[in-house]
Amino acid sequence: MISSSFEGFRYHKPLPNFYKVENPKNPKNEISEDLLNDFSELVLKYNFSGLSYSKLSDEFKHEFNTDFDNVIIIKFLMGDNLIKMEKSREKCMLMDDEFQDYGVHVYEFADFLREKGFKADLIHPLADDLSMRAVALQSNDCVITRSNMCLFKDGITVGFFMIHTSIENLPFKSENDMCWVEDFCSTCGVCIDRCPENAFDENEKFQRKLCTAHREGCNDCLLRCPFYRRGYDKVKKRYDRMVKR
Ligand code: SF4
Ligand code: SF4
Repeated sequence: MISSSFEGFRYHKPLPNFYKVENPKNPKNEISEDLLNDFSELVLKYNFSGLSYSKLSDEFKHEFNTDFDNVIIIKFLMGDNLIKMEKSREKCMLMDDEFQDYGVHVYEFADFLREKGFKADLIHPLADDLSMRAVALQSNDCVITRSNMCLFKDGITVGFFMIHTSIENLPFKSENDMCWVEDFCSTCGVCIDRCPENAFDENEKFQRKLCTAHREGCNDCLLRCPFYRRGYDKVKKRYDRMVKR
């Protein structure tokens, strides 16, 4: 059970410690397929959408001054009812609650791995010195869209948590087959046209400071984005037809 004094990831307090299992003294670094499947089943049991895996490059570790290599990304799809809600402070708080509801399970996932003899630590979602998105991009399993959303094939409304671990033989992807999205975005531009804050500069580059997604819960561009309305696979098919013409 998580302590009732849990105070949250996103907004204010340092991350409390909910681990029940210590990291092993001599961690193992190879996981069997069966055990990884068991881990995946545990994650899916709590309605997460799936897992991705990042192997951090030497350049990345140097840039962010990190000393770990292997990251498990635990993904969930944000609730559609919240995404469609009018922007408001209440919406932001509800999104924060949803984030926390998922987040508390991540300690259980780390404990599962620790019990099996692996080192496993949650990366703090608000770590000052590490970009979670940069870690996510190292998975070769996502891209950043023109509207600055992190798009996985699971969906464009993916939220995620991360565990770094001693496990070396995770199914890392060495190539990203989603790079076509940048080209597709260059033909679309719906997010730029529909943004009420003009959060894009004269070169149509996203301006984080002007975007009110985090402050006010704006999702206007997301609601009109083809990746949200049609899903990844349908947009990919449309793109493939476009480039064949
Ligand atoms: S609305 Fe269009 S340009 Fe903007 S992120 Fe979605 S696909 Fe890309
Ligand atoms: S979330 Fe809202 S403010 Fe931010 S880019 Fe999209 S439409 Fe603009």
